[in-house]
Amino acid sequence: MIETITLPNLDEVWQETMNWKPNDRQKELFNGLYREILIGNQETNLTRITEKQDFWEKHLWDSLIVFKNIETIAGKNPKIKAIDIGTGAGFPGIPVAIAHPSWKVKLLDATRKKIYFLQSLIEKLGLKNLKTLIGRVEEIGREKIHREAYNIALIRAVGKPSVCAEYALPLLEIGGFAILYRGNWSVEETDSLNVVVSQLGGKIALVEAFETPLTNSIRHCIYLEKISSTPSKFPRGVGIPSHQPL
Ligand code: SAH
Repeated sequence: MIETITLPNLDEVWQETMNWKPNDRQKELFNGLYREILIGNQETNLTRITEKQDFWEKHLWDSLIVFKNIETIAGKNPKIKAIDIGTGAGFPGIPVAIAHPSWKVKLLDATRKKIYFLQSLIEKLGLKNLKTLIGRVEEIGREKIHREAYNIALIRAVGKPSVCAEYALPLLEIGGFAILYRGNWSVEETDSLNVVVSQLGGKIALVEAFETPLTNSIRHCIYLEKISSTPSKFPRGVGIPSHQPL
């Protein structure tokens, strides 16, 4: 039955909320992604979000809404290099790569099983602008080929804001942006995150609130801009950022 499953056509909602809508090829890829995840979920615990509308809203729309004002963060650069830290079942990285075919997106996760699944999914769907990477971000962030090598770092549902900042900022070029996907957000959180990002060579460029279009839930997106080199002591060793957040 899975082969015939397709996501609802919500062109109008895309258009209204993002001033963008997927073309036929992108719709086909979103359907393929959904189908492969449903199949993969039977063997590997990938995601609890499997119902069609839920998948559309919480995995596709949620991944992409942060680029509503894309030019603020990417300018007109078509050759963005992005990394999705702790991608899990491929979110937000895969929808981002589908929506922005000229970008190169790397999917990073510490769990081998998830990355094997994603590698086979990428090949099945023929997605040429996605690559996978197995590892802990605390180690990847110290490797020469990854440090200060990306324009955009995406991070959703991985840890506390200060932990996400320590993971993401070392990977960014100066002028790059880290995008933290959050649910609720408070002024106090902005204040304490400000102190942390300044140690890491960043600043909070923007905090934006969104309401999800189908279930009217609140989302916040925190955009961190890298303004100077991250000191070489960051990220700290494996496990330290999450156990002793800055
Ligand atoms: N971003 C996805 C998945 C969130 S679950 C989504 O929003 O749906 C968190 C994922 O982060 C898990 O797959 C876990 O393996 C990965 N992860 C957690 N800490 C990590 C670290 N230090 N380095 C790399 N991956 C990590």
